[in-house]
Amino acid sequence: MKRSVVYLVGAGPGDPGLITVKGLECIKKADVIIYDYLVNVNLLKNARPDTEFIYVGKQGGAHTLEQEEINELIVKKALEDKIVTRLKGGDPYVFGRGAEEALVLRENHVPFEVVPGITAAIATPNYAGIPVTHRDCTSTFGLITGHEDPTKNESSIDWAKISTGIGTLAFYMGIKNLPYITEQLMKHGRSKDTPVAVIRWGTTSQQKTVVGTLDTIVQKAKDIKPPAITIVGEVVKLRDQLNWFETKPLFGKTIVVTRSREQASDFADKLYEYGAHVIEFPTIEITKPDSIQPLDEAIKNIHSYNWLVFTSINGVDAFFQRLFELGKDIRELKGIKVCAIGPATEEGIKKYHIKVDCRPPKFVAESVVEELKKVTTIKGEKFLLPRADIARSFLPEELQKLGGKVTDLVAYKTVMAQPRDINLVDKIKNGEIHIITFTSSSTVRNFLQIVGEKNISAFNGHVQFASIGPITTQTAEEMGLRVDIKAKEYTIPGLVDAILESTASK
Ligand code: SAH
Repeated sequence: MKRSVVYLVGAGPGDPGLITVKGLECIKKADVIIYDYLVNVNLLKNARPDTEFIYVGKQGGAHTLEQEEINELIVKKALEDKIVTRLKGGDPYVFGRGAEEALVLRENHVPFEVVPGITAAIATPNYAGIPVTHRDCTSTFGLITGHEDPTKNESSIDWAKISTGIGTLAFYMGIKNLPYITEQLMKHGRSKDTPVAVIRWGTTSQQKTVVGTLDTIVQKAKDIKPPAITIVGEVVKLRDQLNWFETKPLFGKTIVVTRSREQASDFADKLYEYGAHVIEFPTIEITKPDSIQPLDEAIKNIHSYNWLVFTSINGVDAFFQRLFELGKDIRELKGIKVCAIGPATEEGIKKYHIKVDCRPPKFVAESVVEELKKVTTIKGEKFLLPRADIARSFLPEELQKLGGKVTDLVAYKTVMAQPRDINLVDKIKNGEIHIITFTSSSTVRNFLQIVGEKNISAFNGHVQFASIGPITTQTAEEMGLRVDIKAKEYTIPGLVDAILESTASK
């Protein structure tokens, strides 16, 4: 029998990398994950496919479930003999009502463990260039709720003591009360010139920081909405020197990735590392071909081929998956030479412990033919090309012209992805999206079909389009898009470099 248990887990402040190793383990083993508004949903990708997700977020005043209902839900799920991971923003015990939930579990005799998380008061100032202590300016640091009702007669906050008694003050949930908080601090002796920072969505690519002093911050931060934390103290001045996060090259840029879900993450991770806010908007889905027969035939007769030519990583995966499904392994490929169109495809092949014999310096079909000519006669050689249903005919035609015997077959199919409803068109028109990336001609075509070709004229000038290579660029231009960013090397790293260059030159 499974042991039912509840893990109360701190997910950290926003950056998914800031969860603890133990917290991540709890996500991986959960049967049920009950999560809050401040939890980065990207963390949920680490769960098993059969895990049940329940969102119980509270955003400002709007609660999906009241706290009592959340408590009941956690207990109910645990009593179903399930491993329940209760995921909360920051640390569960810092203004997170984690203690209340733990007490209810205790009352109901449900075993629980609590996994600490990095709380907002530590992480968000860090990402805004502010250390919460520094020997020269503060030796004390206080975490305070800013949520207290200012009309309450008796404050549970001893303003007289904290105003001058603590060096660095962090106010959670204090945006609405910012006028009251700053007034109390000044009234109780803190200098009006004390530096203050308000940080919204800290540690995420949407982080926004506003800096002022006790007497100016209310005005300066008037447009900042929750969730935001307020940091008061001399340490805020160090931001001028220590602002490592907001100075990343793509910080503040929102970039759309249109590749298939399976392929998006490498690219998205790179952009994210450079500080971009990445929206994954898959326009293509990779599926099995209508008929697997031709591929099966080719695999059965694989010994008769001299060359296996791969023009995409999807082709590589589709080929090997089928090879294994048919009960065979890579020994079948002995003596057959392998060609890859570019470095990503080569990496994909290497994963199966196979060395690539030929890879052209330029990653387009034209260049494959040139390179093959250098290493083989082509004439009389048999080539197998496991490709997409929509692959260009140039490569097989050219090889045939040169006397090669070519089997060009559909190893996988690309279909248009179900559009994600994220108001992309409005976001583009409002200037909220900075760059849209295309990594193949089909991403261009499907993107325009999803967002509506009638919108093209409205896009140009509002958003930049970035393309991985000349064929993709040509497709985009033919469809009326102005391509501003073009990769010099036709690979994902090449495209990332081009994006970095284009933003640096501004
Ligand atoms: N348990 C959480 C705090 C929950 S209270 C923790 O330990 O961090 C919610 C408040 O936390 C918000 O109103 C805001 O003041 C602060 N907060 C949480 N995440 C934040 C973030 N990424 N950026 C800025 N403030 C954040």
